[in-house]
Amino acid sequence: MQNPLVIGILNGDDIGHEIVPAAVEVTRAAAAKTGLLIDWRPMPIGRTALEAQGSTFPDGTLEAVSGMDGFILGPIGHQAYPKVPGAINPHPILRKRLNLFANIRPTRSYPGLGAIHDDIDLVIVRENNEGFQPDRNVVAGSGEFRPTDDVTISVRVITRLGSARVARVALEIARQRRKRLTLVHKDTVFKLGCGMFVEECRRVAREFPDVAVDEVIVDTMAMRLVRDPQTFDVVVTTNMFGDILTDEAAGLVGGLGMAPGLCIGDGSLAMAQATHGSAPDIAGKGIANPYAMIESTRMMIEWLGHNRGVEQAVKAAALMEGAITAALADPATRTRDIKGSGNTRDMTRGIVAAIEAA
Ligand code: ATP
Repeated sequence: MQNPLVIGILNGDDIGHEIVPAAVEVTRAAAAKTGLLIDWRPMPIGRTALEAQGSTFPDGTLEAVSGMDGFILGPIGHQAYPKVPGAINPHPILRKRLNLFANIRPTRSYPGLGAIHDDIDLVIVRENNEGFQPDRNVVAGSGEFRPTDDVTISVRVITRLGSARVARVALEIARQRRKRLTLVHKDTVFKLGCGMFVEECRRVAREFPDVAVDEVIVDTMAMRLVRDPQTFDVVVTTNMFGDILTDEAAGLVGGLGMAPGLCIGDGSLAMAQATHGSAPDIAGKGIANPYAMIESTRMMIEWLGHNRGVEQAVKAAALMEGAITAALADPATRTRDIKGSGNTRDMTRGIVAAIEAA
């Protein structure tokens, strides 16, 4: 008998309380259908944890999730946290302490959603722990500082190790897809930083002769994503470029509700995390698009299936994929941001019904 996959449920804030339960409900339905055993472990995080335990990231949460196979992290609304000692942003701590260095963000079209393009299927792999992000590119303190009132310095960290390992993740994904990888950088200006990133990517790519590699400068990439996104398969880039390009790509297929993501590192665990934030403007209304969270969770289940050799998980992920596509094809089972007439519940129920009917 299969050992249960241990998966944490961390709702996060605002719409996290609506879309994370939706992702769990869909996964439970697929698991029941395929015989996949999951030991679900709800964990405290965010504003509810602050109210109950005095911290948005209570002691023990990090240790607990680090021993799991994976976890769902709902969006964190840290910008609205009160200025009290227990209110901290858990994101950088999770990504850094769990060494989740690769952020895999697919952009996929589902026809009929009124999106700018109807035929996109690409994956942006974003380096997750270095670059310009000041909250995670140093061990202590911040990668941004102000030596005088009139001067601010933002540090960008690029390492050979960080660049090589994210390149390897991207190349492995490309190998399973259309075997094309685009390196996005700006070594024309950032000769040392982007220079090192691209040097390492090229070096690792030599181990993947079956993957065709090309390079695009980031500003050209921003334009080409709008004009001819169909020409891309897998893209790998540094942290901030990836952050910006993935939101741009989401805009091409229906908006932030359509932007899933999976964070992985050395293979020990995976974190399902949608690209979007906690959307406080629509929280509590029951209208949030659960796609990004459900698809992020599906990606995690698929990854665990391959990584842990659990056949039922691979089957459950395939079942979820078909059911998501079926629900998205019907306006009654998709949300209004993607030209539907339904709400979060309708879409979740639609996906569950498609799983049960499969
Ligand atoms: P962060 O900085 O934390 O990533 P943000 O400032 O980018 O957050 P979001 O919370 O992602 O902001 O929201 C941006 C806009 O997208 C808001 O109008 C929000 O309602 C919308 N949005 C985000 N996620 C969803 C979703 N799942 N369904 C529908 N609309 C969404």
